[in-house]
Amino acid sequence: MSARLLEGAPIADRIKDDVKAAIAEMATPPKLAAILATDNKGAAFYAKAQKKACEEVGIAYELVELGAEADQATVEGNIGQLNADANVTGIILLMPVAEGVDSRACQRAIDPDKDVDGVHPANLGRVVQGSTTLAPCTAQAVFELAKASGVALFDEPMQCVGKGIEVCVVGHSEIVGKPSALLLLDKFCTITVCHIGTRDLKAHSTKADLLVVAVGKAGLVKGEHVKPGAVVIDVGINRIKDDEGKTKTVGDVVFDEAVEIASQITPVPGGVGAVTTAMLLKNVIDAARLQGK
Ligand code: NAP
Repeated sequence: MSARLLEGAPIADRIKDDVKAAIAEMATPPKLAAILATDNKGAAFYAKAQKKACEEVGIAYELVELGAEADQATVEGNIGQLNADANVTGIILLMPVAEGVDSRACQRAIDPDKDVDGVHPANLGRVVQGSTTLAPCTAQAVFELAKASGVALFDEPMQCVGKGIEVCVVGHSEIVGKPSALLLLDKFCTITVCHIGTRDLKAHSTKADLLVVAVGKAGLVKGEHVKPGAVVIDVGINRIKDDEGKTKTVGDVVFDEAVEIASQITPVPGGVGAVTTAMLLKNVIDAARLQGK
């Protein structure tokens, strides 16, 4: 069997169209402010990609560059100003932050209604309640891809009796693994979350109708870890060297093996990443609505 590719672009395009339509109804276009408190190249690259995505749909983008010397008071001071600025709809703190800055404390300082990254405890609390409003972008992307795959997700307890699918989420981070598991749990999936302490990954992953992998280790999940006919969502992004020494981007799943066993699989690149970016834009719209804009 060769799996169908579960591509992110069509889903991302639909979300972006919804975002554009929502902006067309607003008196003033929303604005996303991103704080770059580091000299990390990856964070700066991500900021550029965010700016491009925002401009494409009509969201204004401001980059607050604080550099690698930024300290806690400076970062929190800037967050305070952005919280108070009625023109700013969403705030995002780019990761990683400069050494010595407590990123969690900074995230807690962001007004929850402007927290478009979905990292404030108040927004993670909404996820526990089954809401996707200001949920972490990648978890929402996983959820959208799961819906697009057609796996059985149920809204009502009475519809799901004895029919809920088995899901295995590999990776238990706060912004991907845990919220993805919670959003799927709310649709009556039976969830197993695997992590560094899991004794036998294969025993769990091969039971899963939907396998979500979010670790950051190329080659962790092989064909033998996949149940025949399962849907595989590969969140991982890893830069590796191929046999000819060229650098390429791969996921956590050995694609060539899994594609022969799964029924559907997300490509890397071209799967989760595109939907994650679109979800950030959607979160800006959700934030605008929470602020009555
Ligand atoms: P993270 O915060 O580093 O979390 C990785 C998780 O994997 C942790 O829960 C870790 O557990 C677990 N883990 C480590 N080794 C493991 C193993 N051998 N078996 C099972 N679990 C293991 O990373 P993240 O932010 O969740 O991101 C995960 C991956 O997704 C990364 O490659 C990242 O680049 C990518 N990502 C992609 C997108 C996208 O849009 N496509 C968005 C976000 C992230 P411990 O903490 O207990 O070690």
